[in-house]
Amino acid sequence: MSKPKAILLFGPPGAGKGTVGAKLTNVSANYHLSTGDIFRGLPPESPNGKVFYSYANEGKLVPDDVTIEIFWRYMQGLIDTNKFDPSTQYIFLDGMPRTAEQAKILDKYVDVVKIISLKITNDDEIVERLAKRAKIEKRADDADKSIVLNRLAQYREKTQVVLEHYDDAIISEFDAQKTPLEVFRNVLDGTLDVLNQSPAEA
Ligand code: ADP
Repeated sequence: MSKPKAILLFGPPGAGKGTVGAKLTNVSANYHLSTGDIFRGLPPESPNGKVFYSYANEGKLVPDDVTIEIFWRYMQGLIDTNKFDPSTQYIFLDGMPRTAEQAKILDKYVDVVKIISLKITNDDEIVERLAKRAKIEKRADDADKSIVLNRLAQYREKTQVVLEHYDDAIISEFDAQKTPLEVFRNVLDGTLDVLNQSPAEA
């Protein structure tokens, strides 16, 4: 069987990867998978849950081997239980890959056909957005400014380089500082060509 076709949602914390991913997969009947959501769904007292919180609570990335193992086990589960059907659906990966090493390993598992890169240049805007989200989602890692700044630093140090792993032709950039509806409209416009094709043709 060929590898599942993936569309990456890329950008710093608070850029709107989750918001755009949820809307886009909803209207296009594809599957949205967020590694942050998978991690937060782990029982906090389980071995992997403990590893996750020990890193996330300092604004650090979870080590690559743990991340890949959890990601792949989860994705395989989605395929095995028919929640995600790679022959008719794209998988939108939100928060994966986040390091050059993860990008390399991910190539073994999926075929990346498109990258939605959400640009947000104003750090104050990021801190403000995450402070708002902290109140709604009760996320400790969003509520603390020093943790948010660490996450931003990790993004610049380790995640931004991920784009270099891919062909420029599949990367589309979008201004994420526009309103949520405008961002959604622009991303939909910019991905329509791929979404109108079945994964088998992409
Ligand atoms: P955001 O994009 O706002 O930072 P996420 O929910 O995507 O939020 O991620 C929350 C935390 O989960 C990250 O700070 C990190 O600790 C961990 N995490 C998520 N995805 C990955 C990944 N691919 N590799 C390593 N750590 C990850």
